Amino acid sequence: MPLIIEKSLAGQRALVTGSSSGIGAAIAVALAEAGARVAINYMSDAEGAGEIVDQIQALGGEAIAVQADVSQEDQVIAMFQQVIGTWGSLDILVNNAGIQLDAPFVEMTLKQWETVMAVNLTGQFLCAREAVKEFLRRGVVPELSCSAGKIICNSSVHDIIPWAGHVNYSASKGGLLMFMKSLAQEVAHDKIRVNAVSPGAIKTPINRSAWETPEAEADLLKLIPYERVGESADIARAVVWLASDASDYVVGTTLYIDGGMTLYPGFREGG
Ligand code: NAD
Repeated sequence: MPLIIEKSLAGQRALVTGSSSGIGAAIAVALAEAGARVAINYMSDAEGAGEIVDQIQALGGEAIAVQADVSQEDQVIAMFQQVIGTWGSLDILVNNAGIQLDAPFVEMTLKQWETVMAVNLTGQFLCAREAVKEFLRRGVVPELSCSAGKIICNSSVHDIIPWAGHVNYSASKGGLLMFMKSLAQEVAHDKIRVNAVSPGAIKTPINRSAWETPEAEADLLKLIPYERVGESADIARAVVWLASDASDYVVGTTLYIDGGMTLYPGFREGG
């Protein structure tokens, strides 16, 4: 059963960073189901990226795998050249790649701090900059979309929920919130739309320990009023909407897709 029925992105070209696994992979497949050609960015998992390309081709879609570490400027520039060289332009960037390197604060090394910032924040900057350059060069193509380009940043509920033991991760996502809003404000008059999704707890490799045993999952559910752990498809559907003209007046907004995690669930009984 396909996730997306309507071909709302027919003819458009998308790049999804870190899409050889998890939420990024689901986003890539959903964008393809909506009619987009999709570039699957991976850092080292060529096999995983190849599987997502195969999955998209099996659906009758078009996809390529592109290697790049999003924290490295030269690699990001080369990746955009490859995608734009292949398909002529780009219409949608999904800045999805992200990592966690957790540690109690006083044990957190500078390397753990800098690496998380480099991928989660600098990586989004580098990719968004290349995408905006291309959107500005190309402008609006009315047959494709009412906007010149769309950027969707994958953030986290931890852009507003503090997270002990994960100070580097939550600081990177908090920074991303203002990155997204400031960029959205700067480029809106060029008809470029920038928005974010902030997932709650989604079952992926990044947080396996939080849901893989029944005890861990029961603990996690205490934080989720809607009483289920999220799936990558929950995020993918929203990203397709944010990339499509159905959301054309949505600019600089974060969609919290979290089963109510940001609703201070402790206050249901404890307030
Ligand atoms: P994941 O580990 O499956 O996905 C992260 C992807 O980023 C992987 O494919 C990884 O290879 C890639 N990546 C890491 N460093 C990279 C680099 N330098 N260059 C290119 N790619 C790189 O986990 P996920 O849960 O799918 O995470 C995707 C995004 O969703 C992340 O930004 C994460 O912070 C965010 N997120 C996840 C959850 C969740 O509950 N799973 C919640 C909130 C936010």
